[in-house]
Amino acid sequence: MIDYKLHIPGPVDVSKGAYQALTTPVMGHRSPDFVDLYNQCQPLLQELFMTKDPVFLSTSSAWGVMEGAVRNLSNKKVLCCMCGAFSDKWLDVSKRCGKNADALSVEWGQHIDPMLLDEKLSSGEYDLVTLVHNETSCGMMNPLEEIMSVLAKYPDVLSVIDTVSSFSVVPIPKDQWAIDVILTGSQKALALPPGLALFSVSERAFNRAKSIEGRGYYFDFIEFLKNHEKGMTPSTPVIPLIHGLLYTLEKIFEEGVTNRQQRHDNLNQMVHNWVFNHGFELLPEKQFASKSLTCVKNTLNIDVAGFVKALREEKKLSIDGGYGKIKGKTFRISNMGNESTESIEHLLSEMDGVLPRFLDK
Ligand SMILES: *Cc1c(COP(=O)(O)O)cnc(C)c1O
Repeated sequence: MIDYKLHIPGPVDVSKGAYQALTTPVMGHRSPDFVDLYNQCQPLLQELFMTKDPVFLSTSSAWGVMEGAVRNLSNKKVLCCMCGAFSDKWLDVSKRCGKNADALSVEWGQHIDPMLLDEKLSSGEYDLVTLVHNETSCGMMNPLEEIMSVLAKYPDVLSVIDTVSSFSVVPIPKDQWAIDVILTGSQKALALPPGLALFSVSERAFNRAKSIEGRGYYFDFIEFLKNHEKGMTPSTPVIPLIHGLLYTLEKIFEEGVTNRQQRHDNLNQMVHNWVFNHGFELLPEKQFASKSLTCVKNTLNIDVAGFVKALREEKKLSIDGGYGKIKGKTFRISNMGNESTESIEHLLSEMDGVLPRFLDK
């Protein structure tokens, strides 16, 4: 039995109301009741995704759609922008899908420099760019608007933007910035359990997909579009999560999208203040620090694993002890989803209680 609260950067804490919504009885996924649920979600999703294009629901984790995008959209060469664990993996995934792929790689915590991207794309070798907007492993948010204005110079190069941990935290105007595929998952800032990926595809990406062989079936964008027109998904979806999604969307619009973003910003600032007040630093460059989580550089050389364990066991709060090769050298605190001034104050004061034991005296 889980007796602690999640403050890791996904999955995040799920509200009682959202859990309650998951218990709504299931219906047939070809029934009018399902079509009704799907069509109720759609306009809210389009508003949140800032798009006129359909928003699709995939019963998979985000990686399903990330892999699907590569399969649907490239027959020349993929350029994978790499700046952390999630973005790095996309190169390997592209190759495993049988695609030609190159890396544009920077150190973990550094941002993708739009000028470097421009230089790479000017070779004319590429037809697809993969980018993680908010690199959750490093707590770094890429300058997406600047990156999209570089991509605007290359109309034959499509973009896939992973906004898994930034969606609904900051505004990402898909249509205005001409993003071809934007994707996110249920278990990050939407604060639902894992299992549902959400994505939207531009018209020119559909046109590309139509000409690509080997799109497969489960993540075929054209299948999603055909079914969408009937208010359905290609195969049986995770219906409880879609009930949860409608509940969550209604809550988001009740709070107001910009209020929600402001709340995330304020809470993120509170965590940053804690970091600086204790003499720690951020892993990313400050200007590119994420608004949805904080990746703390362990400049005070504490035993991160011990600190995380003490917080979880004694204070019933779970933060993350660092991802992959920066485990122990960093720790991460999420402010995504339903957190409030009170909940973040509580977390930070409990961290204050535990920290002194792990500092050199
Ligand atoms: C969590 C996360 C993923 C992976 O999502 P899954 O749902 O586990 O597939 C991908 N990208 C980013 C930026 C993430 O934070």
